[in-house]
Amino acid sequence: MAFRRRTRADREFRKAQQEGFALLQMLAQEPSPFDAAQAEEPVAPAGSDAVVPDFLPPEFRAPCRQDVSGFMMRWDLPLVIDGEVHACHCGAYRNWIVFNMRDDSVWLRCEAGHEAEETRLDTAWYNRNSGPVDHFHPTLEDGLRHLGH
Ligand SMILES: [Zn+2]
Repeated sequence: MAFRRRTRADREFRKAQQEGFALLQMLAQEPSPFDAAQAEEPVAPAGSDAVVPDFLPPEFRAPCRQDVSGFMMRWDLPLVIDGEVHACHCGAYRNWIVFNMRDDSVWLRCEAGHEAEETRLDTAWYNRNSGPVDHFHPTLEDGLRHLGH
C-alpha cells in the first residue's frame, strides 16, 4: 500500500513538473513587454554628462584649513559621544554649535554660550558629520548670529 501510494504521488509530481517546464518554455518564447520597453529606450552617449572643468575658479575652491580660523556648524539634536548624550554643565544637551578649529580641536558651545573643548571629538569626526561649507563669516560673532546663537 505504502509503495503504491508513493509511486502515484511520484507520478503526479513528475506530471506537475513537466507541465511547469512546458509553461516556462512558453514564457521564454514570448517576448515580454519589459524587453520591448528596454529596447526602445534611447542609449545615452557615453560620458556625455561627465564633463569636468580642468580647474575651478578660486571662489569655488574649498577652503583649506589655513585660510580660516575654524569651521562651525549647528547641531540641534542631542549629541551622542561614546554612547552617551553629552550635556553642558548648565544642563543643555541640544542646540549646540560645534567648532572645528585650525589646530584640529573640536569645541562645543551650548545655547547659553558656554564653550568647552571636547577632546573625544576631532576633525575626522567633524568632517564626517558636517555638510559642505556654504558660508564664510568675517568674524566668529557673525557666524554665531548666522547659526542662530
Ligand atoms: Zn551651557
